Amino acid sequence: MTIKQTAGRDALGKFAPDFAHFNDDVLFGENWNNTDLDLKTRSLITVVALVAQGITDSSLAYHIANARKHGVSQKEMASAITHVAFYAGWPKAWAAFNLAKEVYAGDGANSAASELHGGFFGLGEPNDAYAPFFIGQSYLNALTTPDDYLPIHNVTFEPGCRNNWHIHHASKGGGQVLICVDGEGWYQEEGKPAQRLHPGDVVEIPANVKHWHGATANSWFSHLAFGFPGEDTCNEWLEPVDDEQYGALEI
Ligand code: MN
Repeated sequence: MTIKQTAGRDALGKFAPDFAHFNDDVLFGENWNNTDLDLKTRSLITVVALVAQGITDSSLAYHIANARKHGVSQKEMASAITHVAFYAGWPKAWAAFNLAKEVYAGDGANSAASELHGGFFGLGEPNDAYAPFFIGQSYLNALTTPDDYLPIHNVTFEPGCRNNWHIHHASKGGGQVLICVDGEGWYQEEGKPAQRLHPGDVVEIPANVKHWHGATANSWFSHLAFGFPGEDTCNEWLEPVDDEQYGALEI
């Protein structure tokens, strides 16, 4: 993915146009897009550099969130801040942890369900039948018997897992309702921005609408999926949500 930054011009474009240019075009435009270091490493180094200086304001919160976006897990962030505490000072680590806990709320050790993926309704089995239509590992727990009038499944996505764009076709009735039960995820309809999902959120997906759903990059995610009865129902699986599309989602 390509890093783009406009904070310099947004904040200082008139007051300090050279600084704004260096910030947006050189620091972020060129240096952050240099691929000799991957973005995960680069963002972790940035966090360590700020903590070492005792910069524990909103800029550190931004860079911790940026590191999370680029795949630094809650355990890795905790380990990095613990490590730097010995070299840069204990109180700086405390201040950094206070910000990191907020950024990672819901992930890993902060999540009540961290050791019990799938949430209240259970993980079920690896979703092998639909694996060709997913990126990453998903799990399926059928809560009703297969030929029930109203099929209900608990679908669990590992971090970064999402299904392909797809359409639940029906000539009458049909469609799907998702009820989010655990973790943090995404839902997107074609032509609309992706919406972030949390436990308790309900998504109504009309028949014949192209969409995808899945986990965020850093969180497991489970939703109940209700497949509504209708006439001439069938699922059409389309192209994957590629890394560029998925990576561009707001953290
Ligand atoms: Mn669907």
